[in-house]
Amino acid sequence: MTGYTHSELNLTDPTKGYTQFVLYTEPRLGVACASLNATVTIRRQTPYGQEWRDRLQRCVPSAMHATLVDSMMIPKLFEPCVDEDTDNSSAVRRSSCACYRTWYDPEFGLPVVGEHYRTVSGDIDDWTYTTYTPLDLRPDDVFASLIIDGENGLFWARTADGTLSFLPQEQGRGYGFGRTGGGPTDLADYLTKLLASDGKDTAAGGPPYSIRTVDQQILAWVESKPDARHLELTFEELRAIQRG
Ligand SMILES: [Zn+2]
Repeated sequence: MTGYTHSELNLTDPTKGYTQFVLYTEPRLGVACASLNATVTIRRQTPYGQEWRDRLQRCVPSAMHATLVDSMMIPKLFEPCVDEDTDNSSAVRRSSCACYRTWYDPEFGLPVVGEHYRTVSGDIDDWTYTTYTPLDLRPDDVFASLIIDGENGLFWARTADGTLSFLPQEQGRGYGFGRTGGGPTDLADYLTKLLASDGKDTAAGGPPYSIRTVDQQILAWVESKPDARHLELTFEELRAIQRG
């Protein structure tokens, strides 16, 4: 595969939902998941996670949501939260909860599953969100800034009109900072392609970094920031890092 083009990835039009979303299934083993889009999990409510969470629309569970949970948990997608029904099977002593709830992201049409964890005492009452990343920004989006959400280990893009998106990411090519694993090189690889196209090529994927020259200034910067948190860099700031 030599990378995606917008026309191949017209899957983020919210009026169409996640069309052309490619699934991998093994019915015998009960496996169904995305084959191209990466999965991301938000555990902490950082400002960026909260901004994204606030725009989600609640919806009934669909087959796409089912791909985000273990197959044994699919029936639980249809059960109410203890907040809505204290007699539900997810509740213990009518106060704790371990339910699921489903939303979609109206900007990118992607499914979102929230997992609720509340103790009987209520001391712990958390939601964890799992969703897919887009493979590209939308056709009319203009990349404006890169956001590092260090507490969640996530990377976002903000478009020129202010919309937050997960950084387009392909399954198996998770982004990271520091010097551990392939994440830093994958991120530097994405940013190299972005800079080389003057911000126009925002799609994930493309040839692996071993056959593309990763920008060494960008890679050095990515490797030097193992503890980066809440960093938002404009395209011009990325360009300045590239120039050294
Ligand atoms: Zn609940």
